[in-house]
Amino acid sequence: MNTRTNLLDFDLDGLAAFCEQLGEKRFRATQLFRWIHQRGASDFSAMSDLAKSLREKLPGIAEVRALPVVAEHVSADGTVKWLFDVGGGDAVETVFIPEDDRGTLCISSQAGCAVNCRFCSTGHQGFSRNLTTAEITGQLWYAEHALRKRLGTSERVVSNVVMMGMGEPLQNYSALVPSLRTMLDDHAYGMSRRRVTVSTSGVVPMIDRLSQDCPVALAVSLHAPIDTLRDNLVPLNRKYPIAELLDACKRYLEFAPRDFITFEYCMLDGVNDLPEHADRLIALVREHGGGAGLSCKFNLIPFNPFPASGLTRSPRERVVAFAKRLSDAGIVTTVRKTRGDDIDAACGQLAGDVKDRTRVEDRIARQRRIPLVPVSAFVTRES
Ligand code: SF4
Repeated sequence: MNTRTNLLDFDLDGLAAFCEQLGEKRFRATQLFRWIHQRGASDFSAMSDLAKSLREKLPGIAEVRALPVVAEHVSADGTVKWLFDVGGGDAVETVFIPEDDRGTLCISSQAGCAVNCRFCSTGHQGFSRNLTTAEITGQLWYAEHALRKRLGTSERVVSNVVMMGMGEPLQNYSALVPSLRTMLDDHAYGMSRRRVTVSTSGVVPMIDRLSQDCPVALAVSLHAPIDTLRDNLVPLNRKYPIAELLDACKRYLEFAPRDFITFEYCMLDGVNDLPEHADRLIALVREHGGGAGLSCKFNLIPFNPFPASGLTRSPRERVVAFAKRLSDAGIVTTVRKTRGDDIDAACGQLAGDVKDRTRVEDRIARQRRIPLVPVSAFVTRES
């Protein structure tokens, strides 16, 4: 049995505490941290400026180990997807999306997800377990250094991180925060808080905690403008309804590194993509932000259909009309480009074919018997 401590499990304070137990000063932890994260080193004997005694001690008690890679796919548009083995027949995915002015890494926080959003293939797989800090940080560590090697550069390749892969990051809070701190640490990846985004389906108490513990950019998966519809699309809404969620967003803005919240909105044909839905969103934003309205941007996401969802993608012209309606009301609105389509790397498709569980299929079958709220009900309620 492997009893060595995986040093990817620590932020700098954690590593300092580990080193202190070995009788080592904090500056030794800083050296070690830089070797691991800035240089991608895992061989302690190569860490030339560490004290020889520490270099000799570490291999017996510690290691630097990312998850095993099951598969790697490179898309025609340069998107790279890695599938990592997390044991028990499960896998998680990490996706690198290169653009002209940045390189974004989409990281998973859980194997599967318990929230079970109706439009999300990860949710349909069910929940297996939380990832450890080492498993979350290890996705960045592996991707950054593998990409540097491939590109033959010592420059940083990953400039942005989005916690938008498999899982609800705020339901794995204690493992998430040390990972975020490592991303931000100048002795590791030195990312700006504005370039690290946590995406949540709306775990209200944890949004408040994040604002105090490690405020980074926040994206909220909204997907519906009324509770009856959102209850069905994002079941967590039954616990934290839209009004509570938007109030939490408003509080978060006092501490956020960006002066807006990003709302993700998956466009579902005939379900949430009509002019009435856009108008209700506009009203919500105005109601929850005081005089000027809640400072936010909308990111409209073309749905990636999969058979178990029973949903289809909104036609392009409806997405454009929806975006225009929000924009005309003064809300900055973008439509997400679909990247990596040829490798199934788009949002909600991560690890969709890795594992399907019988109990989840049962649950989906039950859920599909619950009809979505018809738009007519919505209009009556709002008028
Ligand atoms: S959209 Fe996010 S929160 Fe919802 S089921 Fe998928 S991974 Fe979980």
